[in-house]
Amino acid sequence: MKPLLPGATLGVMGGGQLARMFVHAAQRMGYFTAVLDPDAGSPAGRVSHHHVQADYLDEAGLAQLAGHSQAITTEFENVPAQALARLAGQRPVAPAAAAVAIAQDRAAEKAHFTRLGIACAPHAVIVTPHDLAAVADELLPGILKTARLGYDGKGQVRVRSRQELATAWDQLGRAECVLEKMLPLAFECSVVVARGHDGAMVHLPVQHNVHRDGILAVTEVFDGCLPPAQAARAVEATHAIAAGIGYVGVLCVEFFGLADGSLVVNEMAPRPHNSGHWSLDAADVSQFELQVRTLAGLPLVQPRQHSPALMLNLLGDLWFAPAGAERTPDWAAVLALPGAHLHLYGKLGARPGRKMGHLTVTGATIDAVRTTALQAAQVLGIAGF
Ligand code: ATP
Ligand code: MG
Repeated sequence: MKPLLPGATLGVMGGGQLARMFVHAAQRMGYFTAVLDPDAGSPAGRVSHHHVQADYLDEAGLAQLAGHSQAITTEFENVPAQALARLAGQRPVAPAAAAVAIAQDRAAEKAHFTRLGIACAPHAVIVTPHDLAAVADELLPGILKTARLGYDGKGQVRVRSRQELATAWDQLGRAECVLEKMLPLAFECSVVVARGHDGAMVHLPVQHNVHRDGILAVTEVFDGCLPPAQAARAVEATHAIAAGIGYVGVLCVEFFGLADGSLVVNEMAPRPHNSGHWSLDAADVSQFELQVRTLAGLPLVQPRQHSPALMLNLLGDLWFAPAGAERTPDWAAVLALPGAHLHLYGKLGARPGRKMGHLTVTGATIDAVRTTALQAAQVLGIAGF
């Protein structure tokens, strides 16, 4: 592919915060941007040169996006794969619909990992009542997850017994599900990889993630933040997963580290990931610039982390006092802290659990970073870590 140079227009399906940060990266490099999102107030739609306000399967909207754009990417995996396939008839689309379709479906995703010989949690796919009855006892206690459309721990129920499993499946509308054995996690981590049209790959350093209530809360990235052998295996597995589907674009793979030294793959996201946001402030090439480069067919260079980093997610909860009254977080106090980098996504309504922004803290050492991050957490009312 001949590179699309700055001056071209890059399109993105979806207008949330990931698209907004893609748009910012593209515009900084001199590209024009087009966003398709049905919401008039979408975070990316509001900052893009073009905003096509249409549903993801709207023919006229898709034609308009393709008309504006020389190449098109996606910001979330629940964009219907047929919409991407439809766009691919007119313009280069990365990642491809087929790769996104795998990531949209936990059962297909696990089959892909298994095919490559990469261990995932013991699990069973549940489509029929017969599948439910046939579940092995070893899978309990477990987590029942809808095969499609889950995010931030939504569409998941923890179950201890067969009775709870049956109730949970009813609760999830008897949709296709995956039951995963509950694993004793020593840590969670993720790897962001970028793969070009020519198969070249670069990646960000392995990220150590802490989730609260199924939602990412804290990511730390510094030399030695994870056991080196498991970190190296995570990078190797991520490369194999991307290459195994001929992936083009930015891909993030999430892993579980277990106490016995083993590593288990959890899931993948066919796009930049919340756990890679630190790269905007602490690496010389961010995950969003990598997305621009892969889409435009530009060379990929290995990003260099220039500072230890800690990212705190800013959820809508912070906009409410303990008694429930609305408030504005004390941004001035946070910005008084050296090394604190504030990112807010321009979302209008704060709701508990809604991702409103993130704060990256950088510093000379990880100890300095943690001290500052704890101060910021205290100012904002985020639990310590
Ligand atoms: P997101 O898309 O926001 O990453 P999700 O809704 O797709 O999240 P998962 O990544 O499947 O959800 O799970 C969310 C969190 O729940 C995990 O990061 C982990 O903390 C916990 N979890 C999930 N599966 C298991 C498991 N099999 N054993 C132990 N903990 C688990
Ligand atoms: Mg996850």
